[in-house]
Amino acid sequence: MTFILGLTGGIGSGKSAASQWFETQDITVVDADIVAREIVEKGQPTLEQIKQSFGDWVLLENGELDRRALREHIFKQPQARHQLEKITHPAIRQSIIQQLQTATSSYVILVSPLLFETNQHQLTQRTLLIDASEDLQILRASQRDGQSIEQIQKIIAAQMPRAEKLKIADDVILNDGHIEHLYRKLEPLHQQYLAKAQ
Ligand code: ADP
Repeated sequence: MTFILGLTGGIGSGKSAASQWFETQDITVVDADIVAREIVEKGQPTLEQIKQSFGDWVLLENGELDRRALREHIFKQPQARHQLEKITHPAIRQSIIQQLQTATSSYVILVSPLLFETNQHQLTQRTLLIDASEDLQILRASQRDGQSIEQIQKIIAAQMPRAEKLKIADDVILNDGHIEHLYRKLEPLHQQYLAKAQ
């Protein structure tokens, strides 16, 4: 069985930076955020299920998901989020499993901002948390996305608190220095994962 590492961290912690480094080491990375977008692409069965459940208004004229309309609907009716997640979560999980299974690298990484929150860590053998202070998270995410501090704080508040994630994760890297420093911390862990994958 392939050794699967779950990689997580709050917004702006440096998950993607870490993923990209692992990719340079020829490790396949399955990204839960990308999978979540793929399953609702035009023509996908999950998009059809969403249409059946919510109505034709969820589609734009070109047949793509009207993300804005759906987001506003969910914002007004919290129950609708549950209705949507009942459709999307199993589909995301199924697609993640399929992509993990087809990977051929020495070991495989599942990167997900909500690895613990959505129980995706159950699909993995070990977890690595990329950790950063809230101030650094806000600074990095605002520089990357141009989002307001308030928007980023809202996202942080919706994610599992840092202290809880620190308790659950098997390995933790504090990403509080230069990016090269992050890479240097990843190297020995990568060697450990290679050994475990043997
Ligand atoms: P996440 O995927 O966890 O939301 P990213 O990996 O995208 O976070 O990092 C957020 C931003 O901060 C990106 O622009 C990234 O290049 C930058 N970044 C990450 N780690 C560092 C670091 N140690 N030093 C400087 N910039 C960093």
